[in-house]
Amino acid sequence: MTAPLLAVAGLGVAYGEIAALRDVSLTVGPGEAVALLGANGSGKSSLLRAVMGLVPIAAGSIAVAGREIAALPPERRARLGLGYAPEGRRVFAGMSVDDNLDVACRGGAAERRRRRTSVLALFPQLAEHGSRRAWQLSGGQQQMLAIGRALMTAPSVLLLDEPSLGLSPLLTAQLLARIRTICDGGTAILLAEQNVVQALAICDRAYVLQTGRVVAAGPARDFAQDPTLRRVFLGADPARSG
Ligand code: ATP
Repeated sequence: MTAPLLAVAGLGVAYGEIAALRDVSLTVGPGEAVALLGANGSGKSSLLRAVMGLVPIAAGSIAVAGREIAALPPERRARLGLGYAPEGRRVFAGMSVDDNLDVACRGGAAERRRRRTSVLALFPQLAEHGSRRAWQLSGGQQQMLAIGRALMTAPSVLLLDEPSLGLSPLLTAQLLARIRTICDGGTAILLAEQNVVQALAICDRAYVLQTGRVVAAGPARDFAQDPTLRRVFLGADPARSG
């Protein structure tokens, strides 16, 4: 059996006394879009940041295509195939769309052009605004640009932290559909989202986090009727409300 593209096992993350993640295990396989669901503060961002090497881990292992990466700095992890679009549409506001994309690519000019062309094909709205400054874009376009930047390194797994934050339901639906297209094009996805129904609609599997632990996992279609989700998002304790 081939190793998953991303395998997290027994992961622990703490901020001082606060345990943000406890014994979290998950996998993302080739061709998969995997949803990471959970209420505010359940640990979704901490998990993605730990996988990228942006917060230290207290326990556990993280492997990309079977290779342990937990001791590597973020740029090495990126080189091994991890892409990351953090929460909050991180783009260079004063730079043009094209320059935002170009600076995210480590390759030479030809590689940069090739990657940029494929990102702009995915997001035609950006192609129309190549010379505009990022601050002039709408919120949805800025989010596309943030995802486009993460794609400029041609990652094998793309980690997305709440891409729909602040977007209208219509824009959210459009963006999530595009994320499915990215997955179908050969980039596996780990998607932290609070729009549960819409995330499940485009993902193959899901994990549900509650106070830093995985409390449910399985095929996305099985979650549509799952009472665990309701309990998690209403803030009740699934162990007690069983
Ligand atoms: P949100 O959707 O609000 O971003 P989340 O599910 O992504 O929530 P995290 O941001 O990972 O959750 O937070 C998990 C826990 O860790 C929370 O209790 C949060 O308050 C705490 N936490 C996160 N970042 C820090 C930090 N830098 N310092 C201290 N505590 C933190």
